[in-house]
Amino acid sequence: MASIFTKIIKGEIPSYKIAEDEKHFAFLDINPNAKGHTLVVPKKEVNKIFDLDQQDYIELMNFSYRIAKAIEKTIPCKRVGMSVVGLEVPHVHVHLVPLNSMEDIQFIKKESITKDEFVVVAEKIASNFK
Ligand code: 5GP
Repeated sequence: MASIFTKIIKGEIPSYKIAEDEKHFAFLDINPNAKGHTLVVPKKEVNKIFDLDQQDYIELMNFSYRIAKAIEKTIPCKRVGMSVVGLEVPHVHVHLVPLNSMEDIQFIKKESITKDEFVVVAEKIASNFK
């Protein structure tokens, strides 16, 4: 069965999209640690990050780098943190999280964001994506 992220990539489930290329898709996490929390997903459905072949891994990191730069330009924060977990959704994804404190990368405290804010944040990050 297709993962929830494959359904998002195919447009079968809506998302606040930021950017995509031939092999990757980036969108806002629906239950964010902080405003601007973004997921970067390879379109190829693989469960665990270190099961990616090395070339796909490098390309995922390169795409994530470009998304992180766009987040940095958009969201005031001390830095953008990166984490890979995958315990909830078994389809590789990189979490990119604007950080102001250690709590922001602990996946415990969640930020409440309205639909309108999601739309605005996604558009702003997308406009800074190069
Ligand atoms: P992990 O698998 O790394 O533990 O966490 C999965 C992440 O995906 C969580 O942060 C969760 O909020 C996010 N997530 C789960 N389902 C959806 C969804 O349908 N849409 C979006 N945008 N994010 C999701």
